[in-house]
Amino acid sequence: MEVKFNQLDRGFKKYQNDYEKIVMSVLESGWYILGEQVRLFENNFKNYIGSKYCVGLNSGLDALILALRILNIGEGDEVIVPANTYIATVLAITENKATPVFVEPDEYYNINADEITKSITNKTKAILVVHLYGQAANMDKICKIANDNKLFIVEDCAQSHGATYNNRKTGTFGEIGCFSFYPTKNIGAFGDAGAIVTNDFNLYNKMKMIRNYGSLTKYYNEIQGVNSRLDEIQAAILNFKLSHYKEYLCERKEIVDYYSKNIKNNYINLPLVRRNATSVFHLFVVQTEYRNELQNYLKARDIETQIHYPIPPHLSKAYENLNYSINSFPITEKLSNTILSLPLYEGMVLDEAKYVVDCLNMFKKDE
Ligand SMILES: *Cc1c(COP(=O)(O)O)cnc(C)c1O
Repeated sequence: MEVKFNQLDRGFKKYQNDYEKIVMSVLESGWYILGEQVRLFENNFKNYIGSKYCVGLNSGLDALILALRILNIGEGDEVIVPANTYIATVLAITENKATPVFVEPDEYYNINADEITKSITNKTKAILVVHLYGQAANMDKICKIANDNKLFIVEDCAQSHGATYNNRKTGTFGEIGCFSFYPTKNIGAFGDAGAIVTNDFNLYNKMKMIRNYGSLTKYYNEIQGVNSRLDEIQAAILNFKLSHYKEYLCERKEIVDYYSKNIKNNYINLPLVRRNATSVFHLFVVQTEYRNELQNYLKARDIETQIHYPIPPHLSKAYENLNYSINSFPITEKLSNTILSLPLYEGMVLDEAKYVVDCLNMFKKDE
C-alpha cells in the first residue's frame, strides 16, 4: 500500500459534479471579481465563525499583512509572535517593517502564554497569536495579557477553521482573525484565497477598501490600497466547501481518533489537546527523538510524511538580518528536529490509517 501525505484530487473527485456546476455557473454569470459569490461567502463564513464581519482576500498571508497594516502597525513597532510557526506569520510583521519578538511554545505547540509578559516593551503593539496545527492557543491568558497591556490581538487562524476555546471559535478573540484557504488547509480553495473576520465596523470598512486599491466607490480612492481580492470562482467553491465542512471534520476526526487510540510505540509521542479547547487537527503531529529515522522508515514503506516546520523562522536564511543563532529558542529548535506530521487529508480512508499505524507500531530505533 502507498499512503501519500495529501491527495487533493480525492476531495475534488468526491464532489466533481458539484464543482463542475459551481464553476460553470460563475463562468456563465459574466461577473468574476467581487460579486454575489464573494458576498455570500463572507456572510456564510462570518456566521460560521461567529463574528460580525468578514472580508474575502487573496491569501492568508495578505490577510495577516493587511490586518497589521489597518491597525497602523509599522516601523518601530514590536509584535509578539510564536517562534514555532510557519514563516508567513513572521513575514506579515516584517512586510509592515515592524519587528517580530519571538516567544517559545508550550506543550501544545502554541505560544507559551506564561512567557509573553517578559517580552513586552514600550514598543509592543500587538500579539500575533497562531492556533497551530488546528488547536487554539491559551486564549484566556493571552486576552488578559493583551488587555492589561493595551495590546491588539491578531489571530493567525490559517490552520484552525472552526477550532474552539471555551466554546468560542478562533478568530473571535482578537481585533482581527486571519484565515487562509490555501488548497491544503482545512477549508481549501482550488487556488489561493484568504479572509479576515472582525467585530469592528471601522476595521471591516478599512479592510474592504484596502483590498481593492483603497476604494469602496470605483475611482474614489480614500487610502493607499492593494489588490487582494477573493475571486468569484474561489468564493463559490468555498461556499460549497463550508457547507460540507461539518461532514469533512467528522471524516477527519475518524482518522485522528484512529491514530490517537492505536499508535502505541514508546518512541513516539502523540499530540495533546488542551482542556477547554477543541482541535480541528489541521495536522496530526507526533514527536520522536528518532525523527529522521522514523521518516525514512515510513518512506521505505511508501508512507509520505512532512515536517511542519524543519527550520524555525528565526533560523531561516530569510531572517539572517535578525541575527539569531542556534539556541536562541531551544524549545522551538528541538521541536523542529523531533516533530513529524502523519498523512491526514480529505478522502483518506481508514485502511490507509491502519497501514500507517501498523508500520508506526513496528518501528524500532536502529541499534
Ligand atoms: C498557510 C499559512 C499561512 C499563509 O496562508 P497563505 O494562504 O498560504 O498565504 C499563514 N500562517 C499559517 C500558520 C499558515 O499555515
